[in-house]
Amino acid sequence: MLKFTVFRTVINSSLERLSVQFTRITNPFFKLTTMTSINSICIYCGSSAGRLETYSSSASAIAEALVSRNIKLVYGGASIGLMGGVANRVLALGGEVIGVIPKALAIKEVVHRQLTELHITESMHERKMLMAELSDGFIALPGGIGTLEELFEIWTWAQLGFHNKPCGLLNINGYYDSLIGFLDHVLAEQFVKKEHHAMLLVETNPNTLLDRYSNYRSPTIKQWVNEKET
Ligand code: AMP
Repeated sequence: MLKFTVFRTVINSSLERLSVQFTRITNPFFKLTTMTSINSICIYCGSSAGRLETYSSSASAIAEALVSRNIKLVYGGASIGLMGGVANRVLALGGEVIGVIPKALAIKEVVHRQLTELHITESMHERKMLMAELSDGFIALPGGIGTLEELFEIWTWAQLGFHNKPCGLLNINGYYDSLIGFLDHVLAEQFVKKEHHAMLLVETNPNTLLDRYSNYRSPTIKQWVNEKET
């Protein structure tokens, strides 16, 4: 049964604008919580399928791992590319899929119409916020600029302590090797703390990655540097 939700942000006055901002800041997503169980995972991945068949077969493998653990899939709501492939595999196995798509992309990305739940948001920002709220952890599969942006944003929110949920990469066929190498360089050059660098969990096997998510405890570290430390 498809549940269909449209989020509307209508701001008619400065007072309402203030109240909208306040609502977002007090959103439960921003409260620190201790992870207990993983009931839903957000997957970020390409709206294209990529050059190699292995990207699609590995996307199916993570879909199978989610369903076998009774974990819901939260994703960007498209029917195309790796995104559509993961969703279709979860649905074919009888799992639950929640799609979240901004209305501007609902046509362009060919919205998936057979999902368990579909949320259409007013903006990309609302989409990403809702995906984050609905998910107990985040995994990037191979993808393009959109995937990278989504991954880095959710990892940045973890670094800032806005959430305590696990973030990671499924490094299929070495797709992310050069990015992982660059992130080691960012660490070596002291632009990220080692605890924040280690927050990004990287595995090649979906079940190994999901096992790490189940056992994940976010580090308790000071988020901000002071002037003397810069
Ligand atoms: P891509 O990896 O570029 O194929 O995009 C994968 C997903 O990221 C798609 O659902 C896009 O809607 C989304 N996306 C694309 N560009 C952006 C962006 N600038 N910010 C956030 N998400 C994006």
